[in-house]
Amino acid sequence: MLVLVINCGSSSVKYNLIETSEERDVCKGMIERIGAVTSIVKHEPVGEKHTKATRNISNHTEALQEIMNYLLSDENKIIESPSDIKAVGHRVVHGGERFKDSVLIDKDVLDAIEEAFDLAPLHNPPNLKGIQAAQTNLPDVPHVAVFDTAFHHSLPPEAYLYGIPNRLYRRYKIRRYGFHGTSHYYVSRQYYKLIDKPVSETKVITCHLGNGASIAAINGGKSVDTSMGFTPLSGLVMGTRSGDIDPSILFYLVEKEELPLKNLHALLNRHSGLLGLSGYAGDMRDLIEEAGNGDRRCQQAIDVFCYKIKQFIGSYIAVMNGCDAIIFTAGIGENSPLIRQQSLTNMDYLGISVDGDKNQNAERGKIQKISSDLSKTDVYVVPTNEELVIAIDTAKIALASDQSPWV
Ligand code: ADP
Repeated sequence: MLVLVINCGSSSVKYNLIETSEERDVCKGMIERIGAVTSIVKHEPVGEKHTKATRNISNHTEALQEIMNYLLSDENKIIESPSDIKAVGHRVVHGGERFKDSVLIDKDVLDAIEEAFDLAPLHNPPNLKGIQAAQTNLPDVPHVAVFDTAFHHSLPPEAYLYGIPNRLYRRYKIRRYGFHGTSHYYVSRQYYKLIDKPVSETKVITCHLGNGASIAAINGGKSVDTSMGFTPLSGLVMGTRSGDIDPSILFYLVEKEELPLKNLHALLNRHSGLLGLSGYAGDMRDLIEEAGNGDRRCQQAIDVFCYKIKQFIGSYIAVMNGCDAIIFTAGIGENSPLIRQQSLTNMDYLGISVDGDKNQNAERGKIQKISSDLSKTDVYVVPTNEELVIAIDTAKIALASDQSPWV
């Protein structure tokens, strides 16, 4: 089934057109700077010439129109007619407590995504705009919402409750939700395909290290703990997000610098993390380069990043009482031997050791085992594919729905 996967930010739309029966990308692309004077449009049909252009695109509906025009144009002929697309899958960041699985989008689901605006003010509003824009452009096919939070619904109460008055959980649903669920799900499933053991007996730790970063403990195929919490701000140090801090720092700053709430928000979300620590960059490649040139603060930022990963891995081994495999994925996890090595140094007590050569020579884009033969826990690099998870879930739900063009 040909499925269009849409991932909308406040000023961007990413798309992937995927043939789910062959798990094959057909075309992908991105429109950035929506609403700015000039927007940037990129289309990357697989095996064909990629294009990059500037256009004037003022909202998400126009962005979806641009994507459809490109796919349908005489020059590209990626699809013959809009009806070639059988379903649209939408990445929705926050599903709150309600959505444990992906769902067919109807009025009730749209309302629930809107109700979760408070929980994810940066993500859910543009996600909803993207759904409405896609429904306008493709009104006759099923649209499906796939939630970043859904995979972590299996967390037990001791992992999802915070140590605050319980009435705040009951009244406002303040609890740990966890994010990057499609990625943690995908890479753990790729690992299960490699081993000869029932999934129910496996213990895995997945490290999704991109601009946003999170770790999950997956016991018997189910997420039992994860580093992100009520929002995607907590846990690991990230590109520009702080990760876990002592909440009293906020009270202290309010008094010392008289910072209004919105500045605190920006401080922790956009000016902290690797960027804040280094004072130089939030991008790991830049930091590794500058640290190599002797910059002490860039080196410190890398050290804090890896230390946090090690802390979470240690605690999740304790949580699960063991670990068969640690999996690295996303931009940093897939591409940086240095970060993988440093995060797992001096863990012989836990029986974890990385093979220096295998780690250094791990081929990009492939599943690789990088632990040494003596390691008690296997260590893998597994490229993630969140869009494929969204496309496959969408195809499944669309086929079962009475909105399917085949029913
Ligand atoms: P996003 O969360 O935006 O999807 P990605 O998964 O693309 O992020 O990861 C982006 C991060 O990956 C950036 O910090 C980037 O520097 C880092 N990265 C990409 N390639 C490498 C590399 N070869 N070495 C170290 N870091 C890398």
